[in-house]
Amino acid sequence: MNLILLGPPGAGKGTQARHLVEKHGMTQLSTGDMLREAKSSGSEMGKKVAEVMARGDLVTDEIVIGLIREKLTGEAGGGFIFDGFPRTLAQADALGTLLDEIGQSIGKVIEIRVDDEALISRISARSSCASCGEMYNDITKPQPADGKCSNCGGTEFTRRADDNEESLRQRLMEYYKKTSPIIGYYHAKNLLNAVDGLAEIDAVQKSISEILEK
Ligand code: AMP
Repeated sequence: MNLILLGPPGAGKGTQARHLVEKHGMTQLSTGDMLREAKSSGSEMGKKVAEVMARGDLVTDEIVIGLIREKLTGEAGGGFIFDGFPRTLAQADALGTLLDEIGQSIGKVIEIRVDDEALISRISARSSCASCGEMYNDITKPQPADGKCSNCGGTEFTRRADDNEESLRQRLMEYYKKTSPIIGYYHAKNLLNAVDGLAEIDAVQKSISEILEK
């Protein structure tokens, strides 16, 4: 089953995707992670997108569709989780075509709903382990007191360059202008489900599991 996680920045898409990878052996495809990797590897494409990302604007459809195309070469054991992709109607159309080409389709789309105020406080509090990507939150899940990641023991933690208020405001604007129309798109295709992203992480996991089992 291939799954799309939809929702504004900070909704918890990454956290939920990681859980699904662990629980169901699914393959997470996060275009944000791929772009950050390109940026830190110093590739031409990485240099091109760095400023766009720092501002909180969307990278071109051509670049992100290209990244996804490279990953969709075959079947992923437990299915793909699309996290942060598609973000525009053009990307949604392209994803449908790419999956078609490999004889696959989207099983479910899950919209994680959260209000803006919660997003701003979540994002300014978040950090992650530099080695394994385990996510932390200064208030709800602080970095361990011994300074070692609870998942892998790593000792370095990072905060995203675009997790600041100015960039977040722009990322939210991009979400409402360009990404939210795809909620209607998947509703019309009868694929849309919604969960309350303000609930505790475990409760959100449970709601997602219930949708997947339906
Ligand atoms: P994320 O990690 O999903 O929050 O993405 C971080 C940043 O990467 C976004 O603010 C965009 O600049 C860029 N980005 C990630 N995914 C996409 C996408 N599907 N389309 C356009 N830009 C993207």
